[in-house]
Amino acid sequence: MMEDRRNWAGNYTYGAARVHRPATIAQVQEIVAGCRKVRALGSRHSFNAIADTPGDLLSLERLDRVVALDRARRTVTVEAGVRYGPLCRWLHREGFALHNLASLPHISVAGACATATHGSGDRNGNLATAVAAIELVTAAGEAVTLSRDCHGAEFLGAIVGLGGLGVVTRLTLDLVPAFAMRQDVYEDLSLEGWRPTSTPS
Ligand SMILES: Cc1cc2nc3c(=O)[nH]c(=O)nc-3n(C[C@H](O)[C@H](O)[C@H](O)COP(=O)(O)OP(=O)(O)OC[C@H]3O[C@@H](n4cnc5c(N)ncnc54)[C@H](O)[C@@H]3O)c2cc1C
Repeated sequence: MMEDRRNWAGNYTYGAARVHRPATIAQVQEIVAGCRKVRALGSRHSFNAIADTPGDLLSLERLDRVVALDRARRTVTVEAGVRYGPLCRWLHREGFALHNLASLPHISVAGACATATHGSGDRNGNLATAVAAIELVTAAGEAVTLSRDCHGAEFLGAIVGLGGLGVVTRLTLDLVPAFAMRQDVYEDLSLEGWRPTSTPS
């Protein structure tokens, strides 16, 4: 049973009967194979019913470790329950960063990529564009790996799967070298002298 049946914002109440919280990929496979209907649940940040099901929910919150850092290829492989905040702190200590982030640090990598969560900057790809490979468990409980290098269009079509193609258990993400950012906040600015950058015709 879910202790808190609501999404993070509290505007949606999940109707699923049970939430499974597996600690291994073998357990994920067992649960998926044994359920009539099951859907992956991320960090419950979507505002709507996208993560809900009349069947069972499967949360990967216990699968939240960094699996491997490949310095030469500049990639990191993580379990699907990892959240961006802890991941980015860990990457920074190792000298790496992700190319883009959403507004909140506590969303799961798998959920954000499954929904093509955008970051900022009109020249940066959304968070799913950093995915180089995924491992997922299909409806039959089979573990499948898809990668950008080996599976072309099939891979590209699977990344933003909205939880409909299976349960993603691991992701490999592209990295960039660590970088520093600065935020400038201007307060109490006067409107005097301000004019729009483009004037409607
Ligand atoms: C305050 C707030 C700010 C936000 N800011 C932004 C923002 O800046 N940019 C932006 O684009 N979005 C933003 N969002 C939207 C939100 O971040 C995304 O919907 C979120 O990233 C989804 O991730 P989640 O882990 O919470 O997934 P959930 O909401 O739990 O699930 C979303 C979908 O992903 C699927 N899914 C989750 N985990 C897996 C898995 N392991 N395998 C397969 N499918 C899976 C689910 O089945 C479901 O279909 C914001 C939301 C809130 C509430």
